Amino acid sequence: MIFLKSDSEIEVMAQAGRIAGLCLQMVGSMIEPGITTRELDAAAEAFIRKHGAIPTFKGYQGFPATICASVNEVVVHGTPDDTRLKEGDIVSIDVGATYGGFVGDTAMTFPVGKISPEASRLLKATSEALALGIAQVRENGFIGDIGYAISQHVRKYGFSVVRDYAGHGVGRDMHEEPSVPNFGIPGMGPRLRRGMVIAIEPMVNVGTWEVVTYPNMRVVTRDGSLSAHFEHTVAVTSDGPRCLTLV
Ligand code: MG
Repeated sequence: MIFLKSDSEIEVMAQAGRIAGLCLQMVGSMIEPGITTRELDAAAEAFIRKHGAIPTFKGYQGFPATICASVNEVVVHGTPDDTRLKEGDIVSIDVGATYGGFVGDTAMTFPVGKISPEASRLLKATSEALALGIAQVRENGFIGDIGYAISQHVRKYGFSVVRDYAGHGVGRDMHEEPSVPNFGIPGMGPRLRRGMVIAIEPMVNVGTWEVVTYPNMRVVTRDGSLSAHFEHTVAVTSDGPRCLTLV
C-alpha cells in the first residue's frame, strides 16, 4: 500500500528532511584523515537530538548507530567504528531523522582528503545520476522513469548500479512502498501520484553490480571495487519534484 501524504504532512516531512540534510552537511564538514566513523556518529546523534528529532536508524532491525558509514568497497549499512579514515578513502554517510512522526532520509559519499581520479569520477557519476533521477519525478510519471534515467547515466561512465537494494517510499516508516529501483523501463512500474514521498538513492559500483551482504547488514561489492551512494527524500507535487532533504 502506498500512503499519499497531505500538504500539511509534507510540511512536517520537510522539517524532518531539513534536520537530516543539515546533519549530513555537518558530518561532511567533519570528514578528514584521522577521524573515526564513531566520532562522526556521536556528532550526528547529538545534532539530531538537539533539533528535537530522533535518529531513525538507531535500533532499526538492531542497527546500533545514528548514521551508516560505508568506506570504499562498502556499499551501504556500514556500522561506525574506531577505524580512522585515511587520505584517499571515500565514505558514504547515510542519515535518517524522525521528526513529528515522519522520517527524512538522505546520504552522500564524501572524499577523505585527496582521492584518485577514478574515485572522483564515481562520486560525480553517482551524484549526477541522483539529480537525473529526481528530475524524472512528475505527477502521473512512473517509477520506471527514475531507474531508467539513473542506470543510463551510470552506464555512460562504465560503472554499474546495485540491483539488490533500492530506494523506497518514505513516511511514518522509513521503508514504505513503492520500491524505487535504480534501473527500470520508462513508463513501467507504479504511477507517481501527488503526495507520494520517495527516497531516491543510486548505489553505484566501479566494477560489478554484484554485492555480498553480511549478517551485520553491511553490504560490500563482490569484486572489492569502490562504491558510492547519494540519496534524497523527494515529494511528488503538482509542480514536479520537491526535494525535502536538500539544504
Ligand atoms: Mg533510504
